Amino acid sequence: MRTRSALLVAVILIAILTSAAYYYTYPRNISKSMPQHELYNITMAVSQEVEEIRNLTFKEQPQIIIVNRSWAVQEWRSSPANLEEAKMWEEIYKLTLFAPPTYNYTKTQEAVKASWIAATSGNKMYIIEENFKETGDTAYRVIAHELTHILQKHYFDPSYPSTLDGRLAITALIEGDADLTADIYCIKHNITIHKIRSLPLDDPPMALGYFPYVYGDKFVEFLYNTGGWELVNEAYNKPPLSTEQIMHPKKYLIYEKPKKVSITIAKGYQIIHRDTMGEFYVYLLIGTHLGADEASSVAEGWEGDTLVFLKNSTHEAVIWKTLWESEKDAREFYGAMRAIIEKTKRNIPHSILPPSCRLMEVRFCLQALKRSNWGLNYDSEIYN
Ligand SMILES: [Zn+2]
Repeated sequence: MRTRSALLVAVILIAILTSAAYYYTYPRNISKSMPQHELYNITMAVSQEVEEIRNLTFKEQPQIIIVNRSWAVQEWRSSPANLEEAKMWEEIYKLTLFAPPTYNYTKTQEAVKASWIAATSGNKMYIIEENFKETGDTAYRVIAHELTHILQKHYFDPSYPSTLDGRLAITALIEGDADLTADIYCIKHNITIHKIRSLPLDDPPMALGYFPYVYGDKFVEFLYNTGGWELVNEAYNKPPLSTEQIMHPKKYLIYEKPKKVSITIAKGYQIIHRDTMGEFYVYLLIGTHLGADEASSVAEGWEGDTLVFLKNSTHEAVIWKTLWESEKDAREFYGAMRAIIEKTKRNIPHSILPPSCRLMEVRFCLQALKRSNWGLNYDSEIYN
């Protein structure tokens, strides 16, 4: 009897010790030959630590799905609707001089997807096996980051506003939160933190995609240092509304909202898209053509904007009306836009109105028939 109970104690002790060892010493050398069940084990172990760091418990077990690169490229390729939308954005980027005439936005998007290591959708986390195994220790950081997205889904289920500015702002909160969790995980395990820290100013559409990481990280760190995870959690109930609030977190704390800007559309035009581009778009547009210093000093005065992309039977056009904190700020943006138009020599028919009070409006247009080779031979007619 004694022997049996001693044996039982020993078995329990071994079980406790094994689970503790399993918990903290799961495989640290990811190799190409690592079997798939090890990947599951790693993910489960990381998930326990993510719960501890983020101080939230998964409401249901995350579902882990291991896939290969060709599956990911095939399954996650853009739908026809996504492609249409990407094409529309490519036109807006080119018409606002944000991207060069030869830029292929859809190609950039597809290449990014093929390089993903893991991705989440609801309660599911997909791991791209080859990419995961080729990433070394950073793969652990990616897993911690993606698992945080599942926690966010369980607790906050954030929704995305319809404007570019609003979407970038909420995405910055989401990505900044996941990055901070993953960074704490890395520090705990002495893993070097490899992450996006700067913007590719030579590729503005790509840089837009980097915003949630570069600025989101700083934004969430600011919230965390101010009020811990509690303040980060609260931000999902009181979501940041603009890239301005993310770039200047103190403006988030006082909840300085972007101002509405109205545009009157002439008869005969059909609106294809209406948006608010935000301070960060202004920053990138100026930054890519005139440098980061000029971009910061001009963009800071942004207070609101509305952009409409519209067409009639012969033309497509962009009208972009911006509102500034002072007339001086509006004039600075006017000067920057004039310099960009001059510098790019894109020969896009445009009209740019000198600021009246704090408003500044710029219009670009092109002949619809020339869409196929657009960026190269614009019609010289000025839209007004
Ligand atoms: Zn993420």
